[in-house]
Amino acid sequence: MLRFRKNIYLDNNATTKISKVVLKKMTTVLKNIWGNPSSLYKTSHQSAQILKIARENIAKAINAEPDEILFTSCATESNNSVIKYLFEKEFPKKNKIISTAIEHPSILSTLEYLKNKGAEIVFFNTSPNGDINYKELESLIDDSTIMVCAMSANNEIGLILDVKRIVEIAHKKCVYVLSDCVQALGKIKIDVKDSKVDYASFSAHKIQGPKGIGALYIKNGNPFNSLIHGGHQENGLRAGTESLHNIAGFGEVCKNIDAKLKKVPSVNKLKQYFISELKKLNQNIKINSEGEKFLANTISVTFIGTSNEKLMAALDYRGISVSAGSACNTLENAPSHVLKAIGLNDDEARSTIRFSLSESNTLSEINYTLEALDDYFNNRLPAIGAISPKQANETLLLDKSTFVLDIRSENDRKSIKSIPNSFQADFLGIRKYLDNIPKDRHVIVVCQGGVNSPFTAYYLKSKGYVNVSFIMTGMWGWKLANKDFYNRYTEE
Ligand code: PLP
Repeated sequence: MLRFRKNIYLDNNATTKISKVVLKKMTTVLKNIWGNPSSLYKTSHQSAQILKIARENIAKAINAEPDEILFTSCATESNNSVIKYLFEKEFPKKNKIISTAIEHPSILSTLEYLKNKGAEIVFFNTSPNGDINYKELESLIDDSTIMVCAMSANNEIGLILDVKRIVEIAHKKCVYVLSDCVQALGKIKIDVKDSKVDYASFSAHKIQGPKGIGALYIKNGNPFNSLIHGGHQENGLRAGTESLHNIAGFGEVCKNIDAKLKKVPSVNKLKQYFISELKKLNQNIKINSEGEKFLANTISVTFIGTSNEKLMAALDYRGISVSAGSACNTLENAPSHVLKAIGLNDDEARSTIRFSLSESNTLSEINYTLEALDDYFNNRLPAIGAISPKQANETLLLDKSTFVLDIRSENDRKSIKSIPNSFQADFLGIRKYLDNIPKDRHVIVVCQGGVNSPFTAYYLKSKGYVNVSFIMTGMWGWKLANKDFYNRYTEE
């Protein structure tokens, strides 16, 4: 849809592009090795062999035994399975789960779900420089504690936790530890024998592997039962015919884990360069991921006083994909829980961008990104307006010179009714509607959550529209701020 000059991907903590060797392996398996690994005839032996080798490769990458590796559909499943299983097993004798406050939603939402079933959820803090208050953790563990959730590396700021030390503390009181290792695999050395962690979750798509395949490490002797019941696959621990091509792809990634780790210093060099140049370019920034306690690929930057939504859209306009590092599409445009946990206020969290690199990024891509940022901060990019939900009042929206462009889906329009007289267009097919959008009016773009509209606004700018704005927080936030007007026009 958008006219990109380049395509620079700096959002590798969200997902990664599959590598050529992995793709080749998966294609071979899809084409030639399609037997069911559980069957008994010859065609299936090859499949069973693929499964075995992949399991061995993953085990080797984290210094585990092959029978300690269980394949799942994703890390979200791995995290859900362990937490729900241990809670079910121990409740009501025990009900406390301790977690860091910076876990991924696949942990936090599961904990929230269990709260309604009687779990006591307690968080321990991490300071802005990555220090953990180990004493606080120790004091939180008591006889009612089931487990501790502590990720190995955080996805938003790249903070690396000392899981070995956390395990030492938890094990003194016979409490299990689950570590989400999704962002750590391939970026720092993982040794489950050394850390003695009880459970660990992994995902292939964060390290040039396929999507839809995860793994769960379960230390030998530790209890486990699956969320998914059926056949006897995975040693009876997780039912369902194995996704063989995905598993083969995951195994292939892990086979090369040492080579990946060897590339970390060069990624780190790019990170250091980016940070030092960024500091020269804009002094009004705060780096949230600097130093040895942070992953070499993750750069979280707070651009003080700048809306991350607008900046993200501006970078996208230049063909650069980054992430806001905040759940900005939620109801109240909620700032990131991770950034808040490390001490940022709401405004700072809403001004933060995550750049996450991979071994494929180059110096020229970093220079191009710095140039785009420089253009943005020196107003050399076309300006679009960001209108707060309160500013988008009845007077402005119904003014004759205003043209409200609603780019939501039909379903979204059913859940929140469109502003009267708004023009409805399809976000992805916006090009088709250009003849209907007047160039001489103030075009106000609105989407459901405030994420898509800046992209469309920039697109219109690139097509010669002079006066273009978008409503921050989208229709969700707008409806909350304009209840009276909304009620009147929906009742009519
Ligand atoms: N844990 C962390 C730290 C992540 O970054 C992610 C992915 O966003 C997940 C878990 C979920 O992984 P998956 O996409 O395999 O469910």
